[in-house]
Amino acid sequence: MFEPVSKTKREIPVLPLRGAFVFPGMIVPLQVGREKSVLALDEAAGSERLIMLANQRDISKDQPLPEDLHDDGSVAVIRQITRESNGSVRAVVEGLSRGHIVGYVQREPYLRALVEESSEDPEQSPENEALVRSIMHQYEQFVRMSKKLPPEALASVVTNESPGRLADTIAAYLLPKHEDKQRVLGIVPVKARLEAVTEILAREMELMELEKRINVRVRKQMEKSQKEYYLREQIKAIQKELGDRDEKGTESEQFRNQVLALGLPKDLEEKALREVDRLEKMPPMVAEAVVVRNYLEWICSLPWNVETKDRLDIQTAERILDEDHYGLTKVKERIIEYLSIRQLVKQMKGPILCFVGPPGVGKTSLAKSIARALDRKFVRISLGGVRDEAEIRGHRRTYVGALPGRILQGMRTAGSKNPVFLMDEVDKMSYDFRGDPASALLEVLDPEQNSTFSDHYLEMPFDLSRVMVITTANTAHTIPRPLLDRMEVIYISGYTEEEKVKIAQKFLVPKQLKEHGLEAGHLEFSERAIRSIIGLYTRESGVRNLEREIASVCRKNARDIVRGERKHIKITPGNLGKYLGVPRFRTGVAEKESAVGVALGVAVTDVGGDVMPVEVTVMKGKGSLILTGKLGEVMRESAQAGISYIRSRADVLGIDEAFHEKEDIHIHIPEGGIPKDGPSAGITMATAVVSALTGRPVRHDVAMTGEITLRGRVLPVGGIKEKVLAAHRAGVKSIVVPADNRKDIEEVPAKVLRALRVSYVDHMDQVLDVALDDEMEAGKELSVPPSFANPEQGTGAGKPATNH
Ligand code: ADP
Repeated sequence: MFEPVSKTKREIPVLPLRGAFVFPGMIVPLQVGREKSVLALDEAAGSERLIMLANQRDISKDQPLPEDLHDDGSVAVIRQITRESNGSVRAVVEGLSRGHIVGYVQREPYLRALVEESSEDPEQSPENEALVRSIMHQYEQFVRMSKKLPPEALASVVTNESPGRLADTIAAYLLPKHEDKQRVLGIVPVKARLEAVTEILAREMELMELEKRINVRVRKQMEKSQKEYYLREQIKAIQKELGDRDEKGTESEQFRNQVLALGLPKDLEEKALREVDRLEKMPPMVAEAVVVRNYLEWICSLPWNVETKDRLDIQTAERILDEDHYGLTKVKERIIEYLSIRQLVKQMKGPILCFVGPPGVGKTSLAKSIARALDRKFVRISLGGVRDEAEIRGHRRTYVGALPGRILQGMRTAGSKNPVFLMDEVDKMSYDFRGDPASALLEVLDPEQNSTFSDHYLEMPFDLSRVMVITTANTAHTIPRPLLDRMEVIYISGYTEEEKVKIAQKFLVPKQLKEHGLEAGHLEFSERAIRSIIGLYTRESGVRNLEREIASVCRKNARDIVRGERKHIKITPGNLGKYLGVPRFRTGVAEKESAVGVALGVAVTDVGGDVMPVEVTVMKGKGSLILTGKLGEVMRESAQAGISYIRSRADVLGIDEAFHEKEDIHIHIPEGGIPKDGPSAGITMATAVVSALTGRPVRHDVAMTGEITLRGRVLPVGGIKEKVLAAHRAGVKSIVVPADNRKDIEEVPAKVLRALRVSYVDHMDQVLDVALDDEMEAGKELSVPPSFANPEQGTGAGKPATNH
């Protein structure tokens, strides 16, 4: 639609404005300070009093050039000018019409331009009317929403105005942005101006709505945290009233402080604090609170950052090891080597020490001495019987009564993150469907992984890299292979009687006296008494029972001595029985008659070397092989091999060749633990079977060990030193060992060898030669020609070599 607007052009001074808008019809006071502007005002005031007001695009510019000004503005008349003392001028101007700068005619000393003036068109059209209504409606809403203006103030302003003026007034007073005001100022046609204003108002209202929503949300949040704070304070007050709150604050506050004091890494600290928050919100007695409390107690009691300082002095270490232990020279040397290397490389990575040996030989006490030498804390856990990964690594917290695994329990006991950590009986772990504890242990031992050991309960990585782990085992071959690969194994074998006597005199007796509050003068053990304890009351490779018996003698005497009834007691073999009761063992199991079907083996069991009698009976039957006693699969195979050998040699041995069809053979091992290596009982079983089948008695003072093959060859076995010591303890006079084990005999103390005759064999025929008596047991019917008495003729095997 065409709106007739008259346009006139004139040259007038230009006054740059900084954000002030003077719409036509408005009277506005202006403060003018810039020199150029004052000049322009003066010039205008001196002529027609007309001036072009143009806004700066960038209001921060001090000396605006024509390019810096909008071309659209308003032409105004200067109503009044007042000069202030500081040189600035106050002018009151009234907007007359919209003006458009066509071009500048002068830049200095003030701006002057050719301006095209547009008059306002007063015409009313229905369309404009509709727009006005909609603007009025918006305007009311806007005023209500913005709350910045008293509604009646503007209502009066707006009424009775022409549509164009209405648009200008609203733009001048309501629109918050300069660009919008400038835009409205630049539009001459009334309709377009009205449209622009509705559009801007609509947008502004939308923004305001949004702002309001955000405000509400923020307020709600603030209210919530205020409420929480208030409630928390109330809880505190209630707790105080109830006496739940002491000087140190509530439980959760204490936990919070403790957690902060641990110096945990940031993420772990946050995790722990989250638990504290959870606890705080729970009623104290619910089951869940108990779980969280336990968890926090665990976290707070672990030595996250507590470390003791190492003493790295090898001489001291040597001295301490000697102070605590008799003998064990080689073992001590290896330990010292190990410690020196660690000291040289200054880190704890590398293989783990593993002490292997029978019980009571000082494995634990060596580890304790190492801790003492390094000045570290000492902890010990036993892995014997552990079959569940959770015992190492803990149960998840979702389980009722869940706890951390043994590793972290040990760390808590240690109270420092670098203790000497003894793990006993690594060879006694087993595994089942609940996971393999060995693999969890691997993680503990692996220097690549153990700085972030994860426990199911704790669910936080714990640093074990500073721990010095020492393991012990009774035998090396049941240690899971991957574990064994990470270990430096140090074997400690059993003690001879002489060594035991020395250990008792130098260590065990003084230690027990002290523990019972006695002095050396009070109670004296004669050497013979000690020997009697060793021989009659204990049968072991180590000295654990010996120590126990000595302790028991001390205990029984302590009362008398303390009461002052007696001043000095000497323990002799004679009065030993009074304190320890009847002897539990006879020296020398072997001191009995030679018997048919009984042979004496020696084996290494869990408790070290021991003698192991094997009994065989032969009965009429169908040729079955029965094994009873604690026999394993390997033993059965080994017995079977023995029988096959006997069958192949039946004629030479003088046995009915069909014995395996007509007779049942029953092998029984009546006492003793389970031997660690089944096959080593091979020749013993075969000897007993031959004896039972032939009726030739086995010599009572011969013990034996060796694996047998189908063809009667005798193969070497392990644990020779332990076995020879055991045979010696049992009072055996002669021992049969595989020829290939000759080198192992060198480790046996000379004193023991002097008392024993050792026969080296490589064939079963030689074993029988040494072990079987030549005489037949009276009454046994012979089923073979008497030629068996000389087996050499048939076998060609040489006489067994002996070192006697
Ligand atoms: P293990 O751990 O090998 O089963 P322990 O370390 O418990 O054996 O030793 C049992 C007892 O024997 C401890 O009191 C220990 O001090 C003592 N003992 C063992 N060997 C020696 C030794 N060579 N010298 C002094 N005491 C020893």
